Amino acid sequence: MKRIIQQLQPYIPERSIDDLKKELGLSKLVRLSANENAYGTSPDVKKAVVNWTYDQSNRYPDGDAKELRDLISKKFSLDPEQIVFGVGLDEVIVMLSRVFLSPGDEELVSAPTFSEYALHAEIEEAKVKSVPVFNSGQINFAGMLDAISERTKLIWICNPNNPTGTLETVSDIENFVEKVPNNIMVLVDEAYIDFATTPNASAMDLTKKYPNIVVMRTFSKAYGLANFRVGYAVFPKIVSVDVQKVRLPYNVNSIAQVAAVAAFKDESFVRNVVEKNALERQLWEKFFDDNKIKYYPSQANFIFFEYPDADKLADYLLHHGYLLRTGLKKNWLRLTVGMKIDNEELRNLIYDYKG
Ligand SMILES: *Cc1c(COP(=O)(O)O)cnc(C)c1O
Repeated sequence: MKRIIQQLQPYIPERSIDDLKKELGLSKLVRLSANENAYGTSPDVKKAVVNWTYDQSNRYPDGDAKELRDLISKKFSLDPEQIVFGVGLDEVIVMLSRVFLSPGDEELVSAPTFSEYALHAEIEEAKVKSVPVFNSGQINFAGMLDAISERTKLIWICNPNNPTGTLETVSDIENFVEKVPNNIMVLVDEAYIDFATTPNASAMDLTKKYPNIVVMRTFSKAYGLANFRVGYAVFPKIVSVDVQKVRLPYNVNSIAQVAAVAAFKDESFVRNVVEKNALERQLWEKFFDDNKIKYYPSQANFIFFEYPDADKLADYLLHHGYLLRTGLKKNWLRLTVGMKIDNEELRNLIYDYKG
């Protein structure tokens, strides 16, 4: 076995709600720890999945995901060959790490950010250098440029960033990419970009202009398809051809493809989710302002906030039916924006909490 595997800190997935409920003796438990879609999934997805032709079960799925590929490339005016699909964006992160990192290489991340970037770099026996975000939560692009070395191969920009929720402008990202040497890939993880209410927030168009920028999307968040595992990356065309070589040929199954197609077509569902989320997010930010609780301004479907003895608060909330994400930064909690009724109850719980 690679030595590194034995030393790795694994990513700990969420426990099942049913399990937790049973253990804690709760009749209701709302998971606001995994940034899932609080409003469910488009009803069109159910129709599409139920109508899926079961008699194709013995056949391999379309390895090209052609229908989905055509839809996405049309929407963003891409060459269809720019897209590489993964079993969730998680798998795309694995592929990118595998393709670009050799033992001894380096990747740069901003901190705090999504932990899977570092995990997969470590598996490839590469080093991870992290550059802390500013006090505002914004990415320190100048610091990232300074941290580039001869061994740097990848730079991760999560936008909006998980867990801070903060958004970087496309022009800041473009200015950054222009200064990064062409042999280093800049990976922009847009898992939450649909939730951004700032106009023109996506860096997608930059993939047509620069040879070293990749933009990643997932169906797990705004489209409410976390269970189906579909994500993709958009590459400059010359790069995607090589990345396709490491993709398992039938990675995304037919039901997932059918579900993603239906979800992608139902633009009104996503629009509605984004609107409701923005409204609820605003109410949370007002609550934090009113109660002098520090948080980062969010453009995502979650908010990261600071609270004294945060783990104790999280434990209290858990025993009252709300699961938040702990352990990302000392005395900070990440809260997925939920449905109105849950947000209201949760704010009352926090307001009344006496430590
Ligand atoms: C949720 C998340 C992902 C992974 O999404 P999947 O498509 O469900 O694998 C990737 N990046 C970030 C920042 C995320 O928060």
